[in-house]
Amino acid sequence: MKIPWFVALLILAVSCLLPVGGQEKAKASPWKAGTASAVITPEKPMWMAGYAARKAPAEGAEMDLFAKALVLEDGEGGSVAILTADLIGVPRDVRLATAGQVAAQHGIPPERLLINVSHTHCGPELRDSRNKNIDDPERRSAEAKDYCAFLVATFTRLVGEALANRVEAGAEYVHARCGFAMNRRRPDGKGGFRNAPNPDGPVDHRVPVLHVKATADESTRALVFGYACHCTTMGYQKFNGDYAGYAQGMIEEAHPGATALFMNGCSGDQNPYPRRELSYAESHGRSLALAVESALGTPPRSLGGPIRAAMKEIPLAFDTHPTRAELEVRAASDDRLDATLAKHLLGELDAGRALPVDYPYPVQVIRLGSDLTLVALGGEVVVDYSLRLQKEIDDPVVWVAGYSNDVMTYIPSRRVWDEGGYEGGDAMKWKLFPARWRSDVEESIVRAVHELRRELE
Ligand SMILES: [Zn+2]
Repeated sequence: MKIPWFVALLILAVSCLLPVGGQEKAKASPWKAGTASAVITPEKPMWMAGYAARKAPAEGAEMDLFAKALVLEDGEGGSVAILTADLIGVPRDVRLATAGQVAAQHGIPPERLLINVSHTHCGPELRDSRNKNIDDPERRSAEAKDYCAFLVATFTRLVGEALANRVEAGAEYVHARCGFAMNRRRPDGKGGFRNAPNPDGPVDHRVPVLHVKATADESTRALVFGYACHCTTMGYQKFNGDYAGYAQGMIEEAHPGATALFMNGCSGDQNPYPRRELSYAESHGRSLALAVESALGTPPRSLGGPIRAAMKEIPLAFDTHPTRAELEVRAASDDRLDATLAKHLLGELDAGRALPVDYPYPVQVIRLGSDLTLVALGGEVVVDYSLRLQKEIDDPVVWVAGYSNDVMTYIPSRRVWDEGGYEGGDAMKWKLFPARWRSDVEESIVRAVHELRRELE
């Protein structure tokens, strides 16, 4: 049937007036955003986390450590609170206590709270260090307990402050690339791997940026940016945010009034190179800050519509436990670290306590409108997860963060699990786990991500 030209014109005119899905909705319900930040540098000379070789507590601070909050609201009851911190990790009990306080005091439910840490190795010790084969475990544990209570209170307060100063705002996504991260698993020629730069190993050089601007004057309120690289340029005796701390400082200097929040990515097997000079940490920070600036010069993707989130802890299985006889052999070995672990596990068995068969591993998916899907995974996730999920999730933007909501140990992919080495399982000797992860670690986590993503259609 041929449509007369004037009818066609009428149809075109009417269709132009019809609301176009999310965009029209975004106009009807503008987002709001608020930010807050606080210095969390320990006031006392605490023990530091990240390198067992340190023989003394911190000798002051090279730069302050910060915790920061961004709260986004979609105008229809959907919100998300993103907390970032210049810390080596976030213990599970800190995450759970903060989530409880934020829900009770500020009405934001746990699945809508994301806590990500930069993994700086120049921050305070956060773990209970008793049973560990390290110096001064009692003092470390006592300091860590007090400091973690301070963190819960500070995180909760920051969410409240961000809510109190929220304004009508728009959000955009841009990205660029930055090259100082390199794969750190170099084949040793004998079937194993050593911690050394491997320019041929997989990397994820993407720098995703969430740009939040006040609607009233277009001023930048927040820049959330990510990068997949261990925050280990420095092994230092002073508190320092490493490259992520420098980058955040430089971005805030370039955008007065804005809060810069760094989210570490899937960087379990990624190191910054070159390393071991303070000037390199600053240079890498400048490189990353410049990547954020160059991203801001690219065409942005406007975000709008509902903010949705889903989260769960999955029982991530450990591999087959060692037998008592195997533990007794290990407890008597010259490997002090492994002997300490074996003695701990034997002590548990002697006390009649069963060794855990799995660990409650946190998986979170947040959707900012229908364009940006943010996947937040616990632990030191290797880069394969980011590369795989960016391919498998069929959304315009997929941003995968590691070091989120609990940093319990390394999370290898199946490839890295098969290869073995430090990230494949050896690093778990530093913890009190009965075995490394089971071989289906990657499939279990990826399956959970896809399940959560489907809940958010
Ligand atoms: Zn690490």
